This record gives sequence, structure tokens and C-alpha cells, in this order.
Amino acid sequence: MRNKLRLLTPGPTPLPEEVRLALAQDMVHHRKPGFKAVLHRIQEGLQWLFGTQQPVLPLTCSGSGAMNAAVWNLFQPGERVLVVEAGKFGQRWKDIALARGLDVAVISLPWGQAASPVAIREALDTDPTICGVLVQASETSTGVRHPVREIAQTTRIRDVLLVVDGISAVAISPCPMDAWGVDCLLTGSQKGLMLPPGLAFIALSPRAWNAAERQTCPVLYFDLRRERDNCLKDQTLYTPAINLLKGLDVSLQLFRERGLEEIFRQQWALTQLTRTAVRALGLELLVQNQYTWGLTSVLMPAGIDAQRLLQIAAEKYGVVMAGGQDHLKGRIVRVGHMGHVDFADVLAGLYALRQAFKACGGHTAGRDYLEAGLAAYEQVLDGLSVPDLDGAGN
Ligand SMILES: *Cc1c(COP(=O)(O)O)cnc(C)c1O
Repeated sequence: MRNKLRLLTPGPTPLPEEVRLALAQDMVHHRKPGFKAVLHRIQEGLQWLFGTQQPVLPLTCSGSGAMNAAVWNLFQPGERVLVVEAGKFGQRWKDIALARGLDVAVISLPWGQAASPVAIREALDTDPTICGVLVQASETSTGVRHPVREIAQTTRIRDVLLVVDGISAVAISPCPMDAWGVDCLLTGSQKGLMLPPGLAFIALSPRAWNAAERQTCPVLYFDLRRERDNCLKDQTLYTPAINLLKGLDVSLQLFRERGLEEIFRQQWALTQLTRTAVRALGLELLVQNQYTWGLTSVLMPAGIDAQRLLQIAAEKYGVVMAGGQDHLKGRIVRVGHMGHVDFADVLAGLYALRQAFKACGGHTAGRDYLEAGLAAYEQVLDGLSVPDLDGAGN
């Protein structure tokens, strides 16, 4: 039998039908009033989603393009920054900062561990030349949620910019930029936003804008000052991905209808569903605490090849999940449950995970894992288990 294909990866994520229909429309010209109205509406929606009064600039690139733009616009060669490296995407911050010629201090952690706000505060106290901290809100290669809110409590009272890669956090777990005191928040289109890849979004705090204004060697293509000047006129600097922006207009409307609290509650409920079921199967999670929302990394016992498991889940059950990167390749399965994914998708994913695990020779506990997962899901929806909307950790 040919199954329906279900994409349970931590990006790209499935698209709602309303969004797909918007994407299919013919081209319009991006400098005409009709499209300006779209950009105007999008801007209001993005500011709401980011929790900021500042403009949120749409860039036509993948998420990494916005990471690059952040580093190039905020820091000058030779300036010293602190990078939290606890996975693939922390590594990317380091690589981009080095490519910009920055002097990079690194807090290096085992993959699966979250940053300690105390360690960051101590590093900033010890070395007052550090002028920026670069971190992920959610390290997607492992499934760790870094304590952004607590880190911001340290950076906001110092002359230090906090730059947050929220690519797998925005519209998935709370990261209200202005309220927390984040200086730069960015994301991509293909994770929480229910869009295809190809757009990125970036916002700067007033003091981050001051740093950008001081920039003496800006970049030509991602010059955020010029992007902002255009954004304020409901324009973009260059030709944007027009159809993706029209899709965004629709996905933002869908988010607005639900409200932020409802979006986060749903994402948290799916997270609880997945984790409870995985534990009920007798499988171990990669991350012990500070687990993120939106994806779950499942550790494979010795002797089970995660790559083979993924292939069986996809071919036999139509469920596409992700493996580990670098040294975690073959050792973990990453189940994505972010964006336009519901409980039925996750149940299908958990069933495929178990069947494929057994086909690879694994043994699971006898408990009813789906029942246990659903009970945890209902607890969140019934308000008995409350998501941590402040980001202090779960
Ligand atoms: C997906 C992801 C990226 C990379 O985004 P691209 O769109 O592939 O460039 C960077 N950081 C995090 C946290 C991500 O989840």
C-alpha cells in the first residue's frame, strides 16, 4: 500500500493548503501598490510574531543568510564576540564570525547540553572586551533550548549585544524580543512559519541599530540599514521572493486567527506527546534537561542503525524524519513536530518509529506508548500541564 507522505523533519515542514494555494498564484510586480499593501500587512504580523516594535526585515535567502547578515552588520573585524557552541548551528555562528574577521571566544559544550547563563555572565565579567553573544534559541542539531531569557538578563545591563538564531524557535516556542531584551532575533521561513525555504527575517533592537549605523565596512547585498529604509516605505531593497511573501501573508493570517498563546500551547502539547510516547517505548532522549520544543532527538541503543531505521520509516510508512549530523549521524533520530503538524501526524510518526525500530532488531517496552503520549497531550490542552511561556526551562 502506498501511504500518504508525512514530513516530520525539523525543517522543511509541511504547508497548509491555504498557503500552497497562495504560492501557486501568478507573479505581480513588487513595486506596485497591491504588493506594497501585502508588505505592509506582513510587517505588522511579523512585529507581532517577534514581539517587537522594530521593523522585521524580510530577506530573500535561507536562514543562514540572516545569520550572516547579523554578524556582518553588527560587528567590525577585530571585535570580540562570545559564541555558544553546542551543536551544528552554534558551530555555524563561529564559522561566520571567523569569516568576518572577528575575534571569537567560544563556550564549547557537549552536543545535547544547554548553555549556562552563569558561565556566560562570568565570561563577560572576566573579559569586558566582548561586545556580542551569539547563541541559538533552539539548537536544532540536538534539540536543546538555550536559556535566552536569562542570558538576556546579563547582556541587557552591559554593553553587549545578544544575537539570537531563532530559526527553530520563532512561532514554535516563546522568544518575545523586546520583553526579553534580545538585540537581534532572526528566523527562516521553513520551520515554524509553515512556508517553503527561501525567506529569512531579522530584527534589531535600538542599540543594535546604533551598532549597525557605526559600521564602516558594510556588505552590499545584506546592508540592513538600506533594507530598513526600504521596509519603512513598504518596499524591499531588491526583488524579493514575491510568491513566498504572499504565502507568508496567508500563514501570518492563520497565526493571527489562533493567537500566540494557542500556537505555543499546541507546539508544547505535541512536544509532550512525542516525549512521553518515546519514553513509554523505553527509548532514551538525547537531551536530559532544557529540552527544546518542536523537535525530539531519540537516542538509538547500540546496534541499531538510525539511518536504516529512517529509511524503513519513510519507505514502509511514508514518514520522513531526520537523522543526526556529524558524530551523531546513525546514533539519533530527530522527530520534527513543528509548524503545520498535528497530533495525528505525530501519532503516525511514533508508530512508524516503533515499527522501524523493531524491524531493525530493537526491543521496546510493552506499555501503550500512544495512549501515554495522548494523555500527556490532553493534559496540556486541558490546562493541567502548563507550558513555560517565560522560557526559564522545562
Ligand atoms: C535550520 C537551521 C539553520 C539553518 O537554516 P538554513 O535555512 O538551512 O540556512 C540555522 N540555525 C538553526 C537553529 C536552524 O534550525
